[in-house]
Amino acid sequence: MDILVINCGSSSLKYQLINITTKEILASGICDRINLDGSILKYKSKDKKIEQNLPMPDHKSAIGYVFDALTNKEYGAISSLNEIKAIGHRIVHGGEHFVTSTLVNDDVIEKIRDYSDLAPLHNPAHVIGLEACRYLMPYTPMVVVFDTAFHQTIEPKAYLYALPYEWYEKYKIRKYGFHGTSHSYVSKRTAEYLGLDINNSKIITCHLGNGSSICAVKNGKSIDTSMGLSPLEGIAMGTRSGDLDPAVLQYIAKKENINIDEILNILNKKSGVLGISKLSSDFRDLLKAEGEGNELAKLARRVFAYRVAKYIGSYMAAMNGVDAVAFCAGVGENAVYIRGMIVEHLGFLGVRLDENINVNTIGTEAVISTPDSKVKVCVIPTNEELVIAQDTYNIVSKL
Ligand code: ADP
Repeated sequence: MDILVINCGSSSLKYQLINITTKEILASGICDRINLDGSILKYKSKDKKIEQNLPMPDHKSAIGYVFDALTNKEYGAISSLNEIKAIGHRIVHGGEHFVTSTLVNDDVIEKIRDYSDLAPLHNPAHVIGLEACRYLMPYTPMVVVFDTAFHQTIEPKAYLYALPYEWYEKYKIRKYGFHGTSHSYVSKRTAEYLGLDINNSKIITCHLGNGSSICAVKNGKSIDTSMGLSPLEGIAMGTRSGDLDPAVLQYIAKKENINIDEILNILNKKSGVLGISKLSSDFRDLLKAEGEGNELAKLARRVFAYRVAKYIGSYMAAMNGVDAVAFCAGVGENAVYIRGMIVEHLGFLGVRLDENINVNTIGTEAVISTPDSKVKVCVIPTNEELVIAQDTYNIVSKL
């Protein structure tokens, strides 16, 4: 059964066509710069790679091009759209309402629209993508898979901010957490890989990409996570600041004469390791610069690793112990020296890396700690699209 996975952003649309039986990616790509100059369709199937500049005034036209590419006589992965049995959509914010992946109907779309206040950059784009797919393939079942759903098991003591309680009652201001599909998949896979009983396990998953978050997973359930009401909270990221004293906002507003929206834009897009290094949000650039003696690049990496280690330490306390720490996503799977730097902070607990295995583990599953390490440390590549496809299949196969 072929499932199309769609991740709709405000000006982009990423897609993957997955055969759920073989787990093979039949085709993948992105429509970028939707409703902007220079719209482009990128398409990759087994042996073909296509890039085409095409007019994309809206998401509907972009999805139309994706469907055309998927069924193209020369390079298409399928011969007819009927081969797509269901569509799975990644949705960033499901608020408190969505605790699991859900079959799409009118009410579901309305509810996702309602949560636009909580995710103004993402949810409106998701709704546009959902409606465009529904228009073009009205009889194909669709499922929504939420970044927030896995974290709905977090208890009030962990999700509440210490703010006037009415703010929670009136506006639902609380920690929600993100990257849920990744933390769910990686924690389960870690337990499987290490032969742990997931129902009796304590795992800390570190999703370290451009956006990064850490999650404490006890007995298979998220009990705390570093991102909050929005993906801005937590560790320092590629371009996001992560945790900071809210008093900074008022101080900098006065000093630079800028408003709250401008400050938030800087905290989201110009901070993190990019902000500190003044150079790049990409750790590959930072490592290269560090090699050339760039002190700010080195500092950015140290801040990043230190913050990750502090969260790992706090989640060990939250779970009263830990069996395994798992690294995933672009940085976690590839940035050998950052993993090393993070784990160095945990040496007092008897956590040790096998240096040789660590430096040779890039993008593959492996235990990278020594056999005598008190806590197992591993790399478990994440696969959010596959989780979305799997959830979609699980729901539509019961229809
Ligand atoms: P996103 O959050 O956009 O999904 P990814 O999980 O793909 O991000 O991670 C992208 C980031 O991973 C890059 O910005 C870069 O910092 C880091 N990265 C990717 N490959 C490497 C590598 N070989 N070495 C160091 N860092 C890497």
